Amino acid sequence: MATLGVLAVSVLTLKAMHDDAWWRAERNAQNILHLIHQDAARNLELLDLSLEAVSVGLSLPGLAELSPDLRHAVLFDRGTTARYLGTIRALDERGRILAESRAGTASGSDYAKRDYFQHHRLVNDDRLFVSAPFASNRTGEWSIAISRRLSKPDGSFGGVVVGTLRLDYFHDLFSRIEIGPRDAISLVRVDGTFLMRQPFLPTEIGRSVATSPIFRNLVEARSGAFVAHATTDHVERAYTFTRVGDYPLIASVAMSVDDIFAAWMQRAIVIGPIVLVLCLLTTLLTAMLHRELGRRATAEAQVTAANAELSRLAVTDPLTGLANRRLFDAMLSREWRRCARTGCSVSLLMIDADNFKAYNDLYGHQAGDRVLKAVADRFVSSIRPSRDLVCRVGGEEFAILLPQTSEVQAMQLAEAIRRSVEDAAIPHRGRPKGRVTVTIGVAQSRPSDGTTKSAFIEAADRALYEGKAGGRNRVRSAGAAPAFRPSGIATDRAA
Ligand code: GH3
Ligand code: MG
Ligand code: MG
Repeated sequence: MATLGVLAVSVLTLKAMHDDAWWRAERNAQNILHLIHQDAARNLELLDLSLEAVSVGLSLPGLAELSPDLRHAVLFDRGTTARYLGTIRALDERGRILAESRAGTASGSDYAKRDYFQHHRLVNDDRLFVSAPFASNRTGEWSIAISRRLSKPDGSFGGVVVGTLRLDYFHDLFSRIEIGPRDAISLVRVDGTFLMRQPFLPTEIGRSVATSPIFRNLVEARSGAFVAHATTDHVERAYTFTRVGDYPLIASVAMSVDDIFAAWMQRAIVIGPIVLVLCLLTTLLTAMLHRELGRRATAEAQVTAANAELSRLAVTDPLTGLANRRLFDAMLSREWRRCARTGCSVSLLMIDADNFKAYNDLYGHQAGDRVLKAVADRFVSSIRPSRDLVCRVGGEEFAILLPQTSEVQAMQLAEAIRRSVEDAAIPHRGRPKGRVTVTIGVAQSRPSDGTTKSAFIEAADRALYEGKAGGRNRVRSAGAAPAFRPSGIATDRAA
């Protein structure tokens, strides 16, 4: 039981440590996402405000009349100097440059073919658009374009205002975050286009992961967490993700599950076996102790049983199975003391087989033994088993102790026993009626009256002797009561 307790506590402790490791990893991932979200959302907002300023500026009346410098100042006075931000341009409905924050930076390519331009021409809303990543023709640097639609006063498509953000920005932001060797931070567009990854893999930029099961989990909710196996390296990772502000971008942190539990595993590898070995040892020792105690208990039980058997044999007569003289003496003494204390009375029958010497002479000693057993059985079946005690006190002599029995009751029982033996009709040629018979002396006493125990026994013996002298096969009382002479019973009065 104690072993199970120790085992349970150890398992619970390891489980708590396991949960703790998971919780720490989750919190760490949340912190990273929070940092990315804050920084990126702020920078994107800065760019967005600049786009808005251009958009508002373009609709100002009289803008065309201003000098080029003043016009530039009105349109691009805010936020265009940030480190990772590129040129901001306003394009007309055919993709021609209306204005740009830095003159001479135009790529020369046809802006009308760009994805953002196509998007805004088709979709009439004022939502911000994030383009797919593209590499600069001049510098080869990767950027994304952030754009908004320009609408003419009648609501029709009037062009686009667009700014670029170098992906270095996310690269530098991610590199400042410390992650494990098998962990990853990613930024994807909601359509599944990969924008940035840490560790950095240039080949990944612009790749579409739209069909990957992991990506499908990422777009399902604004933020959340799940565990999945990466399709590329098959590492099981815990993914935590969130949308970046209101922008169509998803930032995610993936942490290797094995690495999350590495420290826990090291401890579990040490603690687990130690606890197991200790529990096994305790169980083994307990089992050994249990077996030893069991053996001892069995041995003790055997000794107790043997002692009980010896004690029983010490007070049992081997021929008849009755109590012997020793038990008779002990029980009489006990009953005597009890009655001396409580004032109750006790009766005693002394029984002797008649002319038994002659029986042995006529039928043999073994036949005599069988008769003694047979009469003993008669005595036993005549008494109250829970209260009375039948004893073989000598060769062919028996005594029956009758606690709490009046003289009349004792006489009635004695007569019943005498008749029962006679009725058994065991042949005895040495007796006048040709049957085995017994003579019974009855005594009754109240120990509290001051009589002694030996006087009581003597009284019963004397009554028995009188019965013998009176002709045998009869019942005699030692007390004032006359000899019990039941009517209709033919008693043998001849010696
Ligand atoms: P009474 O009627 O006066 O008692 O005559 P009795 O012959 O029974 O008396 P006595 O005391 O002279 O003889 C007792 C006989 O009981 C002697 C012995 O042969 C017999 N006896 C005593 N113990 C045993 C026993 O264990 N087995 C057998 N078979 N006989 C026994
Ligand atoms: Mg005798
Ligand atoms: Mg006898």
